[in-house]
Amino acid sequence: MPVPFRRVLAGLAVAALAGCAGTSTTAPDGASPTPGTGASALPSASSVASPTPGDDAMAGRSGDVPEGPAPDGLEALVPGNNVDADRINLILAGDGFPSDEEFRAIAEQYVGWDGTAQPIDLDGRVAADPGDAVMAEVGLFGIDPYRSSRDLFNVWIAYDAPIPEGLPSFNNATAEQEPFDLPHQSIVLLRAGDLGDLTTSVSGIDNAWVGVEEPADAGEDPFANSFVSLDLSYPVADQRLIAHELGHALFGLLDEYIGEDGIPGNEGRPSLWPVCAQDRETAEAWWGDLVGEVDPAIETYLDAMAEAGFPVSEDMAAEMREQVTVGYVDNGCYGDEGTYRPTQESLMNHNFPALGAVNRRHAENVLALFSGGLD
Ligand SMILES: [Zn+2]
Repeated sequence: MPVPFRRVLAGLAVAALAGCAGTSTTAPDGASPTPGTGASALPSASSVASPTPGDDAMAGRSGDVPEGPAPDGLEALVPGNNVDADRINLILAGDGFPSDEEFRAIAEQYVGWDGTAQPIDLDGRVAADPGDAVMAEVGLFGIDPYRSSRDLFNVWIAYDAPIPEGLPSFNNATAEQEPFDLPHQSIVLLRAGDLGDLTTSVSGIDNAWVGVEEPADAGEDPFANSFVSLDLSYPVADQRLIAHELGHALFGLLDEYIGEDGIPGNEGRPSLWPVCAQDRETAEAWWGDLVGEVDPAIETYLDAMAEAGFPVSEDMAAEMREQVTVGYVDNGCYGDEGTYRPTQESLMNHNFPALGAVNRRHAENVLALFSGGLD
């Protein structure tokens, strides 16, 4: 029986802290870098008016897979979904939105299916008239490896999802508890409006690949679910949270900001794959072969911003490449002395628009479990 969202959220408030205590924790709020301002060229309307899957730069949907019907309780958020394809079923569910239309508009903005940087107006929404754009921002599928793996996803929207009550049971729902009869599902619950105590975004900790070095088929329900709070007065501020939370929920990646000044630490954490190494020897074994690598996702992002008419300055671009170059970052594993992580910045740190080569390699190993096609 469907559980109304209000009841769900009452449970969330009680459970929020407990839900943050594992390997996946709160995302840093409002910390995403948004470089690039003031260019004169503006994007054409056609770049934002409708999804345009299949361009050469992205792995488009396979032409061999016809679009299929939506399961009960869901509508397609992007073209080309087919539940029979070997794909991850990503579901955006909403609560607190003034209307279904507004929820869908924000969901489409956050998903950013066409992979471009979208023109954003003063209200933090996709500019209806590109001439009103004051900045640009990529959505989930503007960030690699999500961008280059679109053929591995069905993306659905749920206006009235029967979400299990309470944060732990929602975020870590078992296959039997998941509200939709779909394999490999991961739900992102977008909560808008008056957030009360719910000002942080969290993902489940019960991902099949937390700390797992060799991803293997984990059955029908390998993923966790996510809760993303957003501010409807300026929604773009929270736009990259979905990509961050799915880093936890899909790939079992770790938060990398824990232990910073002012952020509660998690002392004594042992090594945890793939980026939390408790000593130099472990770090060298895990990512020594990637030292010096720069996740090419940063170039994808820089290109997208330039194409949208808001190029990142050369100085800022150089700094961003430096921040995501693999090395050995001191005290990098939850701030503990003698520990290391591979990059200064990443999507799992301050919602940087690249995972970094070490996280990315692990994410791509998980994605490689799916073919995208009709097997
Ligand atoms: Zn997080």
